[in-house]
Amino acid sequence: MPGTAGSHPHRDSVIVVGAGPAGLSCALALARHGVRTLLVDAGDGTPREGSRSCGLDATTYAFAAGLTGGRLDGAAQPWAPLRIRRRAAAVPPAQAGADAPAERYGVSQQLLEAALLAAVRANSLITTVWRHKVDAVDQDEDTVTLTARGPGGTVRWRAAWLVACDGHRSPVRRAAGVRFPGRPRVDRLLCADVKVALPREPWDESPMEPWLFVDPPFQRDATVLAQPLASDVWRLTWQLPLAHGVAKAADATALIPVHGDPGDPRRTAERVRAVLRTLESMGSDGEGPDGGAAEDPAYDLLWTGEFEVHQRLARRFRAGRVLLAGDAAHLVHPNVADGVDLALQDVRNLAWKLALVLARRAPERLVETYHGERRSAARRRLAYGEDALHFLSPRGTAQKVGRRLTLMGARSKGTTLRRLDPRALFADSSPEYAGSPLLTPGRVPGIGAVADDVAVVRADGARAKLSDCLDRGLVVLLVAPGIEVWEGARWRDAGVMPVLRARLAELPVATELVVTPGYPGAAAHTLLLVRPDGYLAAWLPPGADDDLTAAALRAIGRRAPEEAAA
Ligand SMILES: Cc1cc2nc3c(=O)[nH]c(=O)nc-3n(C[C@H](O)[C@H](O)[C@H](O)COP(=O)(O)OP(=O)(O)OC[C@H]3O[C@@H](n4cnc5c(N)ncnc54)[C@H](O)[C@@H]3O)c2cc1C
Repeated sequence: MPGTAGSHPHRDSVIVVGAGPAGLSCALALARHGVRTLLVDAGDGTPREGSRSCGLDATTYAFAAGLTGGRLDGAAQPWAPLRIRRRAAAVPPAQAGADAPAERYGVSQQLLEAALLAAVRANSLITTVWRHKVDAVDQDEDTVTLTARGPGGTVRWRAAWLVACDGHRSPVRRAAGVRFPGRPRVDRLLCADVKVALPREPWDESPMEPWLFVDPPFQRDATVLAQPLASDVWRLTWQLPLAHGVAKAADATALIPVHGDPGDPRRTAERVRAVLRTLESMGSDGEGPDGGAAEDPAYDLLWTGEFEVHQRLARRFRAGRVLLAGDAAHLVHPNVADGVDLALQDVRNLAWKLALVLARRAPERLVETYHGERRSAARRRLAYGEDALHFLSPRGTAQKVGRRLTLMGARSKGTTLRRLDPRALFADSSPEYAGSPLLTPGRVPGIGAVADDVAVVRADGARAKLSDCLDRGLVVLLVAPGIEVWEGARWRDAGVMPVLRARLAELPVATELVVTPGYPGAAAHTLLLVRPDGYLAAWLPPGADDDLTAAALRAIGRRAPEEAAA
């Protein structure tokens, strides 16, 4: 446990404030790298209700599943690309191909939090402290001190770093003096989880489509989202008029609960029935009778919630020894980036960096790249969020006409609506971490983006996916066509392997060497350097093996001896 007041601070420990999805996953990700954490939360450790943020990218889902050690099994519903229906006509689905967005999963935040919490409780490197509210945060050059108030009075803890995962209001962010500018109340949503068995063949295990209804007959001039979750649960989200019933914000940075009409159970029941009737009657092509099914499908209402959406971005994700993650750092419209998806990506980026710095294997400037990489990724999402808002809540005639033209274009070309598809948004733009000082620039695309999850053979001959090798150290991937026919681990001693292995053994960071039969666009003998968070850091063409050490040192924020001397 990190040092208490007056004691010698534990130089190898981290305090995490907030046990929402960001904080729970942060403590687990750090533990995976061998780092001890103290997890402090104002709540009593009871999981919260409701699906809330429920869309995860395939890579984020794999990361979450790894952290929970199998506890998420059965909790995820694979999603096909988002489908859109305007009024009573379906926009054709996106054509499969290079354009097709990567897989996404519907995972209820409630189930995710419960699985993360169970994993935290089982982890001996994590100490949890419930019912303690942050009072103050102080720091000097080497340590950070958290003062919190709990049932037994005021307590102080000291550690090397503090990660603020304490949500949108973030007392830690305020204590650190970091501003959180942006646009408040850009949208207003009513959400419900309903359990309903809609017609589906029992053997059909293909991904299910989430549906966005634009101007549907049952809610004119608004959008309604229907997202399938596991176990016959559907998450329904209605866009509500912004002007109605909005509480005056005493605190402009808050997600403000909305009171008034939307909470009326009869109105909610009408809204649920209208969506379910349509979903039931549509058929798999999205077409179907306008008036809905003849009878209302039977359903259970599991949860309802309301929230207002803000678009905000912290000025800095790092203030000395304090780092911000999750909602404490950014609020983005959920149609563009799910809050939990972004939070888990923050944590994955941060954990390996903090672990290396704490172990004195990398300089502190590695932690500073967390700010650069994650803030620019969030800033990009915010920009897309503004664009999506023009579509979701068109204001004025020009934006309304723009939305009609977008939908007509999508209908005639059969393309997906990029502006509403979180993964497709990035398909033709530069890699997420482009420009990061940790990358070795090259003339190939993809450096700074998530590496493809290709098949690999490990040093012991085991067949695996690249994703199985992540979240430890660096991974070096050698493209070796035909490797599939080699038996077991014989490749380890073939050709350049012994030299490569010797080089990697000298690095200050654990580095696994694996081979792959192929990687898109890479010639035989290309070396790819992949960071612990799955991002491609370097692409060395055949014959450039000598550059591997410099690329690996650069990926952890160090300079090669010759660079340092220059
Ligand atoms: C009704 C509702 C519906 C939502 N729907 C969506 C959606 O569809 N899509 C989407 O992307 N997002 C949605 N969200 C938002 C989503 O839930 C958040 O993005 C997500 O919870 C952020 O996770 P986090 O861990 O960063 O913060 P939080 O989940 O807010 O966790 C913060 C933690 O910090 C703790 N804490 C706060 N203050 C203190 C303090 N002073 N001292 C100690 N601990 C403290 C809290 O107890 C909490 O455990 C919804 C939210 C609500 C309320």
